[in-house]
Amino acid sequence: MENILIFGHKNPDTDTIMSAIAMENLESKKGKNAKACRLGNVNKETKFALEYFKQEEPELIENVAEGQEVILVDHNEFGQSVDGIENAKILRVVDHHKIGDFKTSEPLYYTAMPVGCTATIIFGMYEQEKIDIEPKIAGLMLSSIISDTLLFKSPTCTELDVEVATKLAEIANVDINEYGLNMLKAGTDLSDFSPAELINIDSKPFTTNGVKYQVAQVNTASIEDVLKGKSELQNAMQEFIKENSEDLFVLLITDILENNSQILVVGSRIDIVEKAFGVELEDNMAFLPGVVSRKKQVVPVIDKNI
Ligand code: MG
Ligand code: MG
Ligand code: MG
Repeated sequence: MENILIFGHKNPDTDTIMSAIAMENLESKKGKNAKACRLGNVNKETKFALEYFKQEEPELIENVAEGQEVILVDHNEFGQSVDGIENAKILRVVDHHKIGDFKTSEPLYYTAMPVGCTATIIFGMYEQEKIDIEPKIAGLMLSSIISDTLLFKSPTCTELDVEVATKLAEIANVDINEYGLNMLKAGTDLSDFSPAELINIDSKPFTTNGVKYQVAQVNTASIEDVLKGKSELQNAMQEFIKENSEDLFVLLITDILENNSQILVVGSRIDIVEKAFGVELEDNMAFLPGVVSRKKQVVPVIDKNI
């Protein structure tokens, strides 16, 4: 039997990778032939977690054949998915994002919850199937929750995320805070990225009412350090929107210790961002206190002002 392919979004983050691995584990325990894949390089934070729990990276795929059976985790918008997704057979979606540009020709399982992390939803699926989670998988799922909620500090974090993370940490036998901070810190090492790579580590395209925009995010312990390369970053962002015919590029530079973000914005529609956040961009920048979540504090606000 052909493998069912399971994957998250392009420019994979920790939740996308670990949720694909956890779903592979769950599906195979249900007797299904399923394989976790990734749509790009794993970032340093994810690498840290994979190495810590001695788990190999999923296999890289660049496209899927027509009719390929797939399960999507941690995304639903086709613009963020694998090339060829329009003609794949989507069996299931497990996600915690708004439902954007998504359409199928056949019925499917679709599990969406407004929680902080896809792995939190998958935890409930293990419970429902009465399947125990092994320590390694628990560690990977815990890493997802820590990553997506910035160690429970993001406004996307729910009580359920905290509860599930606590149970997973017990199974995986790690100290959440100690492990979590080390994992998040591993992701803030931006030293060997070119500006073009840096704006692509965690970057997503969106289309709303005909406006095409990109929101990328980098985590750091020092916004100032990242801004040393400001003009190079700006050039890379300009280049990107030119190449992809987009109207706007917002880069969120997020201080994971203080939980604030500086935004760097370029494009022909920066007026949308100024209106959305009630700020006047200075030097293409604005400081947004308390803003750490693209999903909850940036994309919906921009969408409302398009
Ligand atoms: Mg994600
Ligand atoms: Mg996620
Ligand atoms: Mg994220």
